[in-house]
Amino acid sequence: MLEKVEEFNMEKVIQEFERLTKDAGRVQRETLKRILEDNASAEYLQNLGLKGRTDPESFKACVPLVTHKELEPYIYRIIDGDTSSILTGKPITTMSLSSGTTQGKPKYLPWNDELFETTMQIYQTSFAYRNREFPIKNGKALSFIYSSKQFKTKGGVAAGTATTNVFRNSRYKREMKALQSQCCSPDEVIFGPDFFQSLYCHLLCGLIFREEVQLVSSIFAHSIVHAFRTFEQVWEELCTDIKQGVLSSRITVPSVRAAMSKLLKPNPELANLIHAKCVGLSNWYGLIPELFPNAKYVYGIMTGSMEPYLKKMRHYAGELPLLTADYGSSEGWIAANVNPRLAPELATYAVLPQIGYFEFIPLTQLENNDASSFLSIDLNPVGLTEVKVGEEYEIVITNPAGLYRYRLGDVVKVMGFHNSTPELKFVRRSSLLLTINIDKNTETDLQLAVEAAGKVLAEEKLEVVDFTSHVDLSKEPGHYVIFWEINGEASEQVLGECCNCLDKSFVDAGYTSSRKVNCIGPLELRLVRRGTFQKILEHYLGLGAAVSQYKTPRCVGPTNTIVLQILTDNVVKTYLSTAFN
Ligand code: AMP
Repeated sequence: MLEKVEEFNMEKVIQEFERLTKDAGRVQRETLKRILEDNASAEYLQNLGLKGRTDPESFKACVPLVTHKELEPYIYRIIDGDTSSILTGKPITTMSLSSGTTQGKPKYLPWNDELFETTMQIYQTSFAYRNREFPIKNGKALSFIYSSKQFKTKGGVAAGTATTNVFRNSRYKREMKALQSQCCSPDEVIFGPDFFQSLYCHLLCGLIFREEVQLVSSIFAHSIVHAFRTFEQVWEELCTDIKQGVLSSRITVPSVRAAMSKLLKPNPELANLIHAKCVGLSNWYGLIPELFPNAKYVYGIMTGSMEPYLKKMRHYAGELPLLTADYGSSEGWIAANVNPRLAPELATYAVLPQIGYFEFIPLTQLENNDASSFLSIDLNPVGLTEVKVGEEYEIVITNPAGLYRYRLGDVVKVMGFHNSTPELKFVRRSSLLLTINIDKNTETDLQLAVEAAGKVLAEEKLEVVDFTSHVDLSKEPGHYVIFWEINGEASEQVLGECCNCLDKSFVDAGYTSSRKVNCIGPLELRLVRRGTFQKILEHYLGLGAAVSQYKTPRCVGPTNTIVLQILTDNVVKTYLSTAFN
């Protein structure tokens, strides 16, 4: 039976967004009211004494600002199978597993149909504005998307990453078809258990449907760059598969083989064409438009931690525009890119006032304090329409899935307003230190890893004097580097063990899964000479820092060239982890 595809009405979606954003303050109050009414029976809200009040003032007075930590007792009860109304009126039956690593472990976040609804609202809104500027029709998307496995917790709750929960929704395919953005690969590829095999098949599907591909996309831009870097390695094999109509023996997952074999027919003409195009390119510049002549743009999240990949992406995209996708998180969606013509470096995201209730903690209230330990009681967030242009804020979310006044930990800057809703620029994670693709490691995670490896070192009666970290993207795949200064001579064997222990101690699901498939290379432990951290301190003092306030930087970014140089000049030994070999 043919699936009915809803007609997408671009003008209607735009008009609706314009209407809602013209009255963002009122829409926010209505949204809060709706969320609080729908969830009035939830134990969490009942205990806070709202007594049926739904106005922002009462809400702020009764409900505390929280982080994930404060919600964990409630979340764990849900995971363990308590089906009463804990955080939401309608009990939660699905969790999103975020790669966030507040306590060195993945975070569970409630997921429900309302969140799927908001996902579609965001997708539709940004698509409407995008399609007005860059129209596509009757097309397919080459989407480098990968679903994680969904599993049941011991209490019977389904859990998977937020994107997996979206992909698995029965409406997802239909909705994406209406947005002309249906993935050209079969489900077996998206849901395949082996990352590399899925990637190879995504590329193969893209080539098979090359005339129909209207856009190339992923959730985060890193996956696009990674995909075409892989293409450089496997393009001849892909051509052979197409020429002979036989799938490479690399693809071993039976369901993926079966699905791909249905699509793959011998096509020497296509294989020769692709071959000729590839050999004709200079250093792969403009690869994407060469392979996909009808592609209109490249699409994915390109801001924040994805910006380092822009250069490579521009190289592959040639003249094709790069359009950054929307702004959201496992906790919920926030804002859409409604100015698609802006380059990713200048991109802003307009908040959808109907998808959640948003508050903003002025960064000035958090400055000079460790954001995570700062008492929430002293913070006074402002409402969506009260933010000021040019100011930076940490976002607080209230969503329809049981998060109330939840500190997301992202820092954004208000760049302007779209009608009366703010346009945000993503600035940074308030606490994220190490990230290459889907991995996310905080200062705490680094500290825990160093602490664990320090115990191995202690067997030799030695200790770590000081440490810092760095993300090395100079070679593919990127990898973590930990710089250590220790107070004596340790044996090669123990330092090798320390290195492996560091690697294993990053327990973030995004990191371990990327390590397993070598999307992130082996962690490197670089031992520096005694006194190196003293030199770094002196460097900062020379810039005007005060010793009493001095904190060793726990991560040295690529632009911090002087500190990086000090570290590099003083490396005496390096060790590469074999923990995932
Ligand atoms: P996750 O919880 O794994 O879904 O990751 C969500 C986080 O990714 C957000 O809290 C942001 O820090 C980051 N993020 C999401 N969308 C964007 C965006 N458009 N630009 C920059 N960073 C983003």
